[in-house]
Amino acid sequence: MLYLGCHLSSAAGFAAMGKTAVQLNANTFQFFLRNPRGGAAKDINPDDVREFLALAAAHGFGKILAHAPYTLNPCSKDASIREFARNVFADDLRRMENIPGNLYNFHPGSHVGQGVEKAIPEIVEILDEVMPEAKHTTVLLETMSGKGSEVGATFEELAEIISRARDNAPERLGVCLDTCHVYSAGYDIVNRLDDVLEKFDRIIGLNRLHAIHLNDSMTEFASHKDRHERLGQGTIGKEALIRLINHPALKSVPVNLETPNELPGYAEEIALLRQNYTLG
Ligand code: FE
Ligand code: FE
Ligand code: ZN
Repeated sequence: MLYLGCHLSSAAGFAAMGKTAVQLNANTFQFFLRNPRGGAAKDINPDDVREFLALAAAHGFGKILAHAPYTLNPCSKDASIREFARNVFADDLRRMENIPGNLYNFHPGSHVGQGVEKAIPEIVEILDEVMPEAKHTTVLLETMSGKGSEVGATFEELAEIISRARDNAPERLGVCLDTCHVYSAGYDIVNRLDDVLEKFDRIIGLNRLHAIHLNDSMTEFASHKDRHERLGQGTIGKEALIRLINHPALKSVPVNLETPNELPGYAEEIALLRQNYTLG
């Protein structure tokens, strides 16, 4: 089954996102629980959640994916920014209990000069503090491009964070693979997809891969930039992205587009991928 969707605005609530997804021929989606810059979260309405759950069941939705605010940085050298990360992370995970059984993705963070060696224990410390709030949610670290001082641009760094975390069973703590980010980080998913997935399996474990962000890239291979492009208009290309969603090792992992599109553009990309999906 191809669980395919895109990033949607959460402004009108869960049922509205579900209806939009159905119109786009999607059967999952990604959303923010609060303003991506980290403002106050909107209250969750139980009636809205009930309506969404009924719609999701009727249309056979896969797991949906909440994305942490971009400002959440668990390894900042600034203690007040780490405190903000801890509070927002915990609060988001408490909110996720309204929609149990889904996924929450965060960027491991940027060490802003203090080095990966100091950053990793700080990320682990915050994970250990917030994971008790994730009673029915799988928490995911996103693969990053390595722009600036981003942590998590190598599979080794992600594996180290996961292995040091206390609550780290594969169904509790996993990874969201972003195609634009890994390609920019130097993993050649265009020419060596099997090798990259073999490496992912060996270092992190494919049993921890719970979500995919499917994006083309504006910048060249190993550029360590983070510029998403529409499918087929970037350096990764349509063929490589289609090959990726059809890879047997990635079967049934929910795929979300984060391409620069309005809804009609997302609908076109979803149609293109569905037409070219062969795993059944
Ligand atoms: Fe992200
Ligand atoms: Fe992403
Ligand atoms: Zn990105």
